[in-house]
Amino acid sequence: MNTHDKRDGGIARVTDVDVIDIRFPTSRELDGSDAMNPDPDYSAAYVILRTDALDGLEGHAFAFTIGRGNEVQAAAVAALRDHVVGLPVDALCADPGSVSRALNGDSQLRWLGPEKGVMHMAIGAVVNAVWDLAAKRADKPLWKLLADAAPEWLADQVDYRYIEDALSREEAVTLLTRGKEGAWAREEHLVAQGYPAYTTSPGWLGYSDEKLVRLARQAVADGFTQIKLKVGADLADDVRRLRTAREAVGPDIRIAVDANQRWNVAEAIDWTNALAAHDPYWIEEPTSPDDILGHAAIRKGVTPFKVATGEHVQNRIVFKQLLQAGAIDILQIDAARVGGVNENLAILLLAMRYGVPVCPHAGGVGLCELVRHLSMFDFVALSGTTEDRVIEYVDHLHEHFKDPAIIANGHYTAPLTPGFSSEMHAGSLATYRYPDGAFWAADLAAQEKETNR
Ligand SMILES: [Mg+2]
Repeated sequence: MNTHDKRDGGIARVTDVDVIDIRFPTSRELDGSDAMNPDPDYSAAYVILRTDALDGLEGHAFAFTIGRGNEVQAAAVAALRDHVVGLPVDALCADPGSVSRALNGDSQLRWLGPEKGVMHMAIGAVVNAVWDLAAKRADKPLWKLLADAAPEWLADQVDYRYIEDALSREEAVTLLTRGKEGAWAREEHLVAQGYPAYTTSPGWLGYSDEKLVRLARQAVADGFTQIKLKVGADLADDVRRLRTAREAVGPDIRIAVDANQRWNVAEAIDWTNALAAHDPYWIEEPTSPDDILGHAAIRKGVTPFKVATGEHVQNRIVFKQLLQAGAIDILQIDAARVGGVNENLAILLLAMRYGVPVCPHAGGVGLCELVRHLSMFDFVALSGTTEDRVIEYVDHLHEHFKDPAIIANGHYTAPLTPGFSSEMHAGSLATYRYPDGAFWAADLAAQEKETNR
């Protein structure tokens, strides 16, 4: 009997979708602090797809948020439950694009977007859970499942609606077919060497200069060739911090700066140019992620410094316009912002079509674990290069994952465990479930005691 079947040999189906509100108290250390998000509590609206297959495999994934509102995100995921429960698992895993299209196309839920915001992130979580399950059933890490797939099948996983003026299915097949040339040698290289990373750990806005210098030097000693600093709260502070970091790492290390959407267009240009003496490599999220023409104007105004954005870009359609408008030098995908792997495939193909390097956003909780799979697929079987490409790395919360991101000599190691690396330890889920997990129950009780004194 096929273990992917049910005990009675019948067709296995999705039996349940669990949704768990998980929060980590990261704001207490100022980890993750930037100009717009001074006190994030890294959180996940966590999904578990359960089936009645004999193999006992589950699909895990999550939408990432930074604390308050995670209950809203979790409710959005729960609203998708009825679309998924009862689906035949074989068919679902053979074509995750089918569920992606069905969820995005729901005629009533679509009003809450379309294809943006809380509902879209919820769809992304469910779609990513399907990919986790599909990769586990195929007994491959997700990057390899994608890299081994036929170009026609991968091209069919993309929804071309609203992007066909920039990328047709035929062009996608051509890019993916070309991407397969020499893939085997690149896979060997990837498994041996890993994929280049950069680190944001030294540069949080809430850190002292002393901590910045210590962590920046440590990053170089650890083999990183790029670091990133948060900017945008105070210009004099930023000039001092960038100068301090530059002195600590020397001229050959790239230092990206990240304003987390703090500025208007003119302000972004002036502020970035005021940092020029210390050679920032890219300016990230200078303004609103929805302002395509603003990014184009900023790019013109800050040349030769590069403009990067993407972690808050809501869908493939906005990415398409950023590329069409020549508004960005670096495209930053995020594994848990858009509608899951299918939409990120579309975005990787668009970036390839326009010749813009992809340097993913990561950090938070679990984003490093997920997004490395997408870049590794891109290297093996799409763009075929890591030149000017780095995945963000932040050294937080990896211990909660069964297949954590591992960095060696400034590179992400290729994960070899089947799945999307999205599964957390059961103990972590039990401890950090909000508000009744062991950590939060104790913490809220202590706070109540404090208030009553
Ligand atoms: Mg950022």
